Amino acid sequence: MWQPSVCTWWGPSGERRLELPSPSAFTRLVEFIKLSSEDDIVNLGQGFPDFPPPAFAVEAFQHAVSGDFMLNQYTTAFGYPPLTRILASFFGKLLGQEINPRKNVLVTVGAYGALFTAFQALVDEGDEVIIIEPFFDCYEPMTLMAGGRPVFVSLKPSPTRDGELDSCSDWQLDPVELASKFTSRTKALILNTPSNPLGKVFSRAELELVASLCQQHDVVCIADEVYQWLVYDGYQHVSIASLPGMWDRTLTIGSAGKTFSATGWKVGWVLGPGRLLKHLHTVHQNSIFHCPTQAQAAVAESFEWEQLHFGQPSSYFVQFQQASQRSRDHVMRSLQSVGLRPIIPQGSYFLITDISELKSKMPDLPGATDEPYDSRFVKWMIKNKGLGAIPVSIFYSAPHRKHFDHYIRICFVKDESTLQAMDKKLQKWKDELGP
Ligand code: PMP
Repeated sequence: MWQPSVCTWWGPSGERRLELPSPSAFTRLVEFIKLSSEDDIVNLGQGFPDFPPPAFAVEAFQHAVSGDFMLNQYTTAFGYPPLTRILASFFGKLLGQEINPRKNVLVTVGAYGALFTAFQALVDEGDEVIIIEPFFDCYEPMTLMAGGRPVFVSLKPSPTRDGELDSCSDWQLDPVELASKFTSRTKALILNTPSNPLGKVFSRAELELVASLCQQHDVVCIADEVYQWLVYDGYQHVSIASLPGMWDRTLTIGSAGKTFSATGWKVGWVLGPGRLLKHLHTVHQNSIFHCPTQAQAAVAESFEWEQLHFGQPSSYFVQFQQASQRSRDHVMRSLQSVGLRPIIPQGSYFLITDISELKSKMPDLPGATDEPYDSRFVKWMIKNKGLGAIPVSIFYSAPHRKHFDHYIRICFVKDESTLQAMDKKLQKWKDELGP
């Protein structure tokens, strides 16, 4: 049975931190991922590439497994030194910052691990964390598990224009509303650019607004930039840490899984000033201690390869971006054929698509009436059309969910064969809809 989630705020009694909103976004996400994994369902729900990583990355992993036997053993707690060194030099250039591999870098179990470590290290009982909606689902529970209080602010879509597709750049923060969310208890703001699920790439002006509020209120910015290489249509990814005065209050999080199309490797990292990183080091050292050495060695070698090609047509970041943009365009065209209205993403693996125009052609959908419409729609689509997606209301806080229940998230970073299978299902759906 569908149960709306209750977001409670509690006092300092430790164990209640684990009483998360029920059902959590994660539980619901897993429910849809499971439904989409049935045979004959084209799974466009979960965010992973269903094609191999580039050959140089696979070879790097092979070298790590079959080379130096010491790679089977523990390595340095905060990161395998060749990896922390190359992360420091690669990102140091991009951020315009001198990065010390020992003091300013932490290698984690995926970007997930980086986020968890950051929340545990910085958020104290009663601290507020500003989360921009729609948000990557773990930000809310991670805030709560650290004893913090999530404070939500939604990106507002501007009214749609007739005949034209909307772009995620039309989804913006209201500067006055954003400013009103900062209080004396605000500890951090989490910024995800390019974003999941919307695919929004925050412009420099938007980042400057966030940066000035963080500086004014002495707030840390947790910048989740795992999709930074996937930016389309000539838009530019700007790291908020590169803005004046921001390095010293920003944690920049990345993912080798997203960078080299190898999500199973689970290698992530955090870059930031020593005054913040030292607290993350403490959490990491006393929980994970160190991450798998071979996977780190493979990521280090992959970055070494990329560094030789970076900025040239042979760069994996360039080639992957181009291939993903082609897949994005393919998926957008195909979705429109059945009357769905994709919101053009500027970056990431994902797009969201408006389902409201189809509503008049839809049967009455089963499910409890208080279950968000998008959730019932996706269950119906999986069962009747064989296409898996994720309802976007999952990526909203409980009070705002009902205002955003007519979008679904699609992952378009998929193999050509998956996209063809999707086309077949959509063609059948179109034929059933008739003229
Ligand atoms: N941040 C965002 C925005 C993501 O979409 C994901 C993965 N879905 C992560 C972090 C976690 O990345 P990793 O797989 O490296 O843990």
